[in-house]
Amino acid sequence: MKNQYFVVRSSGVHGKGAFALKDIRKGTRLVEYIGENLSAEESDKRYDDEGVKNHHTFLFSVDKRKVIDATFGGNESRFINHSCDPNCEAIIESRRVYIEAARTIRKGEELAYDYNYERTPKTTKADEKLYKCLCGSPECRGTILSAKVTMPKKKAAGSGKKKSAAKKKKSVSKKKKTGRGR
Ligand SMILES: [Zn+2]
Repeated sequence: MKNQYFVVRSSGVHGKGAFALKDIRKGTRLVEYIGENLSAEESDKRYDDEGVKNHHTFLFSVDKRKVIDATFGGNESRFINHSCDPNCEAIIESRRVYIEAARTIRKGEELAYDYNYERTPKTTKADEKLYKCLCGSPECRGTILSAKVTMPKKKAAGSGKKKSAAKKKKSVSKKKKTGRGR
């Protein structure tokens, strides 16, 4: 089934990407992030740290126990790239993940959301390098890993408005996914 909002094609900068087929209104639900549902343990077993350095994975960590692996049964949502200043956001509802427009998106724009990779006490400088971000936005924090917890959360410039729905409060993180071609 083709997605009515975006098309996946190669993106000059980072492998494949998802591009808006038309103007999209803020708040529009674009796609569900689907795939094989795994427990955190199963996903750790499938992609040990060593393996992750060599493989592109499509994991999305929904909560402490549930991980979606879009390598199996995934759809085009897995090609939406990361940005530190994204035009989309990942919303978790009833333990399912949806990608929604975080602002008005113009036809032809590349879709992106903040992968916000989880940091653990074991996260090192090398990991920051491995998950280096090249999104090119002025807001770029240099890594796809989530912002350091010790740092005060910086508000995105010009985002005086509160996030629309309360359901969006949950922090969302992708898990150990290497960016394509980064
Ligand atoms: Zn960035």
